[in-house]
Amino acid sequence: MSLDSVRVRFAPSPTGPLHLGGIRTALYNYLFAKKHNGAFILRIEDTDQKRFVKSSESYILEALKWCNIEPDEGVGYGGHYFPYYQSKRLDVYRTYVNKLLKKGNAYYAFDIDLDQKRKEYNHRGLIFSYNSKIRMDLNNSLTMTEKQLHDKLRSCSYVIRFKIEPGEKLKMYDIIRGNIIVDTDNLDDKVLLKSDGVATYHLANTIDDYLMKITHVIRGEEWLPSMSLHVLLYRALGWTPPNFAHLPLILRNNGKGKISKRNTDSFNFPIYPIQWKIPKTKVVIPGYRELGYFPEAFVNMLALLGWNPGIKREIFSLQELINLFSLEKITKSGVYFNIKKANWFNKKYLNKKQEEIFVFLSKKIKTHSIFFKKNYLWKVIYLTMDRIHFIHEIWEHSFYFFISPSFYEASFFKKICNEKTIVQLENAKKILLCNINLNQFTSINLRCLFKTIKNKHQIMQLFRFSLVGSLKGIDIFIILEMLGKEESMRRVEKLINQIKEKI
Ligand code: GLU
Repeated sequence: MSLDSVRVRFAPSPTGPLHLGGIRTALYNYLFAKKHNGAFILRIEDTDQKRFVKSSESYILEALKWCNIEPDEGVGYGGHYFPYYQSKRLDVYRTYVNKLLKKGNAYYAFDIDLDQKRKEYNHRGLIFSYNSKIRMDLNNSLTMTEKQLHDKLRSCSYVIRFKIEPGEKLKMYDIIRGNIIVDTDNLDDKVLLKSDGVATYHLANTIDDYLMKITHVIRGEEWLPSMSLHVLLYRALGWTPPNFAHLPLILRNNGKGKISKRNTDSFNFPIYPIQWKIPKTKVVIPGYRELGYFPEAFVNMLALLGWNPGIKREIFSLQELINLFSLEKITKSGVYFNIKKANWFNKKYLNKKQEEIFVFLSKKIKTHSIFFKKNYLWKVIYLTMDRIHFIHEIWEHSFYFFISPSFYEASFFKKICNEKTIVQLENAKKILLCNINLNQFTSINLRCLFKTIKNKHQIMQLFRFSLVGSLKGIDIFIILEMLGKEESMRRVEKLINQIKEKI
């Protein structure tokens, strides 16, 4: 088919926040639409009122905006095919279900509460399913006269089920998975209209995809088992089905299965693009945005989670992703999520954001009411940049260039809390004071000087501890040079006093 008029949709149910898998589905739809100058549509599938969560819609819109993958059409964006909420299209579904009833592709079923039946089957080690094998033994319009049906409809509640014709090997094609054959003997007669008159996902989704002229259905693998039902629904309504592409699952790299909306507690990595406030408890779960990930890095990482452009590069702008994207290059099997890789992506983008780091650091310094020359700040940034993955990390890796440590790392402090250390620190101080004057206080000179010192490693460690407050930080000679002789000596003095106080 011609790809000129590509129309794809992201069709979330507003049952909570989007997780990584959901946002990746939106991204792939977006990339595909943009690649083919098509339209990316946002439809809210809100027929299941029991699971409806009010704040999900604004969450979805905000998350897409943050990722810079905004829809062309749909909820929040308008368009010809409105309304884009399924809850506002119930009459439309009713019309089509009536057509299906008339053509004999659907039937009324009065046995709504099937729990007892399920239990009985369970006892016998069987699974109950309302299908072509048993529907003629059940309480439905296929097993009664017109008159009986008429009476029943007036007095009883009912659902409307799709009538699957057995005995067919249904051939289908999925762009990612290739040919798929399903034996219709194994399908059950799914409910299309619930007893409250509301369409189920299957009916509403199929009708809307057709009416909204969707050309490609790109969605998660969890919907693959529904594909046969949807294809049969299209056929029953006399419509040509769209193209289908079912995306691989995103798996947790601890082997504990897939990432899903209902299973978000046990992750040791963020699962939401932006923060989610749990409506009941008001607990806020931070998302990638709040944790300091750049949207470009997040989107870049997500794009490669199940798709591979086949070239040896990993950093792509959104426009490059659009140019390279193809559904055929999406992997079939589940993909493992790796937070280290996500951080790696952020780092790559961070390297190009030095101005932002500068602004962040300047603000941080202001909050401490201290002043430093621009040049000094830039130097600090160059010296510590390679240690950070996020802008906010710059402070914990560089504070000691600006302020004296306000506390010392406890276990090492305990270890050195003795007279011997005081003597060592006093000696070290003397070495510096006698051998090196103010304008020679450079890392090169200091390095040379230390070569001749006995116990140099121990002394260097003590210097580091005095200046940084822990054994962390960059090259000690550079720290000494940056802080200068006077400030360095002050900090050594401070540590000596702290030890004296404790012993
Ligand atoms: N409402 C479905 C969901 O939330 C959409 C599935 C589809 O794209 O067909 O996953």
